[in-house]
Amino acid sequence: MIVVLLGPPGAGKGTQGERIAERLGIPKIATGDVLRAAVRDGTEQGLAAKAYMDRGDLVPDSVILGIMKEVFESPSTADGAILDGVVRTVPQAEGLTGMLAELGRKVDNFLLFDVDDDELVKRLGGRTVCDTCQTPYKGLEPGTKCEKCGGNLVRRKDDEPEAIRNRLEVYRKQTAPVIDWVKEKKMTLVKIDASGDVDEITERALKELEG
Ligand SMILES: [Zn+2]
Repeated sequence: MIVVLLGPPGAGKGTQGERIAERLGIPKIATGDVLRAAVRDGTEQGLAAKAYMDRGDLVPDSVILGIMKEVFESPSTADGAILDGVVRTVPQAEGLTGMLAELGRKVDNFLLFDVDDDELVKRLGGRTVCDTCQTPYKGLEPGTKCEKCGGNLVRRKDDEPEAIRNRLEVYRKQTAPVIDWVKEKKMTLVKIDASGDVDEITERALKELEG
């Protein structure tokens, strides 16, 4: 089963993705992770990506897609995968589904995590991080001492309410067309309520996926 996770920052895609992947016995694949692995292993596409990174450039979609193809040609994904952060735009959705079609495979499910903006601002705004060891914290105010190293907890600029609203707006502008595209292609898109208890969200997602 190949599942693409969609949803705003702070919706818990990373955490839920891991839990769902574990329950289904398939790997969770995040763009950043496979990119780092390909560079480390020196695959053909990894070397291409490294050339961009060494110049300080963003790795283009075409190379990311090449890395995804390497991942889907490997036995580790024979039973499927949960894809987190792989599809954020329509071109990326087209690229992924086209590449999978070449391999005789398809996305079985687009799983959309639904959380309202006020809740997301609350969740993301509650984050602080240690200015020394970078350990992230939830629900501790800036100025609190880090439990690990005694450093000071600070709030990232990205996690200020105004910045969060902007990130959410960028997300909606990019993702709304992806949702329309999935529907237009008559592919399966399931929206799940991603607010509340972590275990309950996992169960809701699994119930949708396992039908
Ligand atoms: Zn620390």
